[in-house]
Amino acid sequence: MRRNKIIIVGCGRLGSSIASMLYKQGNDVILIDKNKSAFNKLLNAFGGYEIVGDATDLELLEKLYIKQAKEVILVTGNDNVNLYLSHICFYLYDVPNIYIRQEDNDKRKLIENTTIKAIHPFLLSVDNYFSLRESNNE
Ligand code: AMP
Repeated sequence: MRRNKIIIVGCGRLGSSIASMLYKQGNDVILIDKNKSAFNKLLNAFGGYEIVGDATDLELLEKLYIKQAKEVILVTGNDNVNLYLSHICFYLYDVPNIYIRQEDNDKRKLIENTTIKAIHPFLLSVDNYFSLRESNNE
């Protein structure tokens, strides 16, 4: 079976931006959000699939061909939902590339020994601040 889809869960600012960029690059993108109005954030240029539903519903994930996903990006505003879904994708569906948004860096132990990669907006902001500060002091 060919894995060719990218599934994104959560159409907040992060999810909608990543979805638009990946679609523009020519990827087959499926974006899921439980709130229909969340899709209003998308640019008109987004031509991927917009699915209204709760991604913790495994029947929904299977209907959306999770088994054919080459990449899953879990960026709801809830660390625990992202973590839970990442484990499902890793242990149950063998998705090869999994990225999750995590506000709380303390939970990193829970993805040790997996290929799941975490995006930490908080740590990125700290890094961003220090690099701006450095460039100001040059
Ligand atoms: P934000 O926290 O604003 O970055 O956005 C996160 C998005 O994730 C919101 O649009 C939520 O509706 C969406 N979301 C949260 N939980 C779920 C879920 N279980 N399934 C699908 N979408 C979700």
